[in-house]
Amino acid sequence: MPLLIRSLRAVVVCLAAALTLTAEPVFVAILGSLLVFIPVAPQSVQPGANSDPTYQQLRNLTLGAEAVSVNNLELKREAGTFHLHSGTVCFVAPVQGKVTGAVFVGEGNFILDPPQSEKSMLKLFTKENEFSEKFERLVLRFTDSTYDDLKKGGSVAAGGCDAGLLKDSQHTMRHRLKENLEARLLEDVLTTEPGSLFVAFIHGKRYNDKEIYTIDPRGGGDQVDFKSYDENKTGIWASFPLSGRNMGPVGKTIHIEHQQLDTTIEKNGNLTGKATTTFVSRIAGIRVVPFDLFRTLRVQSVTADGQPLAFIQEDKNDDADFAVVLPKPLRAGEKCTITTTYGGKEAVLNEGGGNYYPVARENWYPNSFFGDYVSYDMTFRIPKGLKIAATGELVSDNTDGGQNVTVWKSDIPQAVAGFQFGKMKEEEVKLTSPAFVVAAYANEDPPEWAAHMQGGTMGNLSTVSMMKGPLSEAQFAIGLYTNYFGPLPFKRLAMTQQSVCNYGQSWPELVWLPTCAFYDSTVRHQLGLDGGDRGYWKVVAPHEVAHQWWGQLVGFNSYRDQWMSEGFADFSASLFLQNAYGKRSQKEFHDFWEDERKSIIEKNAMGYRAIDVGPVTMGYRLNNSKAGFNIARDLIYPKGAYILHMVRMMMWDRQTGDQRFKETMQDFVKTYTGKAATTEEFKAMIEKHMSREMDMAGDQKMDWFFDEYVYGTALPLEKLDYATFETDASGDVVFAFKITQSGVSDNFRMLVPIYLELANGNTVLLGRAKLNGNTSVERKVPLKGVKEKPRRALMNYYDDVLASVN
Ligand SMILES: [Zn+2]
Repeated sequence: MPLLIRSLRAVVVCLAAALTLTAEPVFVAILGSLLVFIPVAPQSVQPGANSDPTYQQLRNLTLGAEAVSVNNLELKREAGTFHLHSGTVCFVAPVQGKVTGAVFVGEGNFILDPPQSEKSMLKLFTKENEFSEKFERLVLRFTDSTYDDLKKGGSVAAGGCDAGLLKDSQHTMRHRLKENLEARLLEDVLTTEPGSLFVAFIHGKRYNDKEIYTIDPRGGGDQVDFKSYDENKTGIWASFPLSGRNMGPVGKTIHIEHQQLDTTIEKNGNLTGKATTTFVSRIAGIRVVPFDLFRTLRVQSVTADGQPLAFIQEDKNDDADFAVVLPKPLRAGEKCTITTTYGGKEAVLNEGGGNYYPVARENWYPNSFFGDYVSYDMTFRIPKGLKIAATGELVSDNTDGGQNVTVWKSDIPQAVAGFQFGKMKEEEVKLTSPAFVVAAYANEDPPEWAAHMQGGTMGNLSTVSMMKGPLSEAQFAIGLYTNYFGPLPFKRLAMTQQSVCNYGQSWPELVWLPTCAFYDSTVRHQLGLDGGDRGYWKVVAPHEVAHQWWGQLVGFNSYRDQWMSEGFADFSASLFLQNAYGKRSQKEFHDFWEDERKSIIEKNAMGYRAIDVGPVTMGYRLNNSKAGFNIARDLIYPKGAYILHMVRMMMWDRQTGDQRFKETMQDFVKTYTGKAATTEEFKAMIEKHMSREMDMAGDQKMDWFFDEYVYGTALPLEKLDYATFETDASGDVVFAFKITQSGVSDNFRMLVPIYLELANGNTVLLGRAKLNGNTSVERKVPLKGVKEKPRRALMNYYDDVLASVN
């Protein structure tokens, strides 16, 4: 039993000091009679990649001798029910006494009955109201009670299943989906607690033959999902949380408390790292700890207390998921420190001209997950003459031989850590209120791809002369957002550039802007970068700066809450436009919301409007091969922005302006600083601060609004049928109007604001009409004391309501 040999020799690892001496007896007790004590010299075995023998057994698993024949057997797993009408079930060989798989050949069907909110997405793929799949072949992998359930329900048979089916499922996971299922199975095989994983590879006859139904309580987001990896039906068809029956603990395996990262990057971009990671187990009995590490960063060793540990990391082009095998199970809440050494190319690319592009952003070190708030101590060694900007506070900056060595520290736990470096020039601006430093970093020379275009009719591509733009944008945004959302705990923000031009990104105290954001519109036009951008270049900097609050300071719990991160950042950009450009501001603001609305309600190339595909709470899984892979971008950013904008406009008051909105957002930031907020928590925060007018359902709840716009896909048509101004006997103006709301369900409610453009040119809010369902409101409103007729009445003047027509 080589597994036990290695386990024993490193058994002191991650035990409290007092336990060290008694470690072996404790370990023996856990594994009971299975254990035979074999003393081994510490140097004789070198644990390395994929060498764990139990892992190897799972990796090379084949069908065993055991089989049952089944008749009308029902296997219910959450909202999915497998009916095995007739056929044979062959089991895989046991590993550590656990049977983790079975192959079925015969007649069967699979009924999936997910929560109501998931049915429309399912229907998008099946075109049917009820989901009922037929199959003749099925592969199951599990660590739950499936083995017992199948055995109990069948009668012993001779076997004769197709072993190729199991191989096919292994091949799919490794080479196509690139997820290491065996590493996940190993977690449960080596745990002291009951397993809870269930995966079904369904070769469907009606919808698709490449379907996977998964139940996994580990990880973030939902625990149950059904997906297809068929080219034409790629996507997650349904995803939802566990129903809560008989399941063990749910959620992430570990929380990382501290990372000490020592990172060296060579001129060619090659990165080598040593990470000392202190984490706490969130689940009892775990021995296999998964980490997120970029696939080309190859792990050389993992140690704890100087003792080498076994780890898993398959080929970089396959299922390269990194996981560490601890010598003994951890208790829930038990702390453990491991040191990982790793290195490789492709995580950072040398783009030429002293430009470097960090490809791996949240997994250039062994990470748990984005949004696990962690404190960091980081040392970076880069070639002399290059400059680096990183997350955290700069502690020291020295030259050591041919290297520039900087030390960074973040005592405030951060959602993620990162860096940007290159042959950069730096410029700083100091803000006094709030006390804050904004720095811009621009590369002295363009990257290779841009350098090729330079000359001829092209303008100058040096971005150093363009630094003022992002610098002043960030400066203005920091002041404005602090006023609206409250102060940042960070004292500095580095606006750096990356040589790719199709996205920007924001880490704590560090923003990557696309290099092209530093170019002026003439140069961008020459590069062909201004077509169909929907105002992108105007908002990329204010959007990324806003992520210091949304996504970094306040985290978001799962993919279902990501609309708040992107939506609130986009919303913040609208505040920026409304305030930054003087006379032009109002137009910029209106143009922005028009662009946002178009993105939400215009049909894409595949004929789908983003708003119809699903609610914002479906996040990035709105992207699929049926509706298009642009849906999430077209929906969660602009609609997320609209949702917050609608809240702002409902809270806006003639006397106090944005006061109520600011209080709400500042309370939200304060409450969820360094935490991951959920959509429901944000709703509760609005309910805490809502005006009486917003209590549309009379229950002090905002469900009416969230059900429509956040969890739903409602889109009303709001129409101003007529608006007239007459004068009454006393000479006061009387305003008569009719508005109609349509295209909604009967319980759709909305506050629809009416503005008047006065004779002097000012636009004022007259009031908000409460509209319930498909209805009209017709009123005559005497405007007391107003003698001069307004120029016109306007509905939704500030794009107050997301509607199909304004
Ligand atoms: Zn963003």
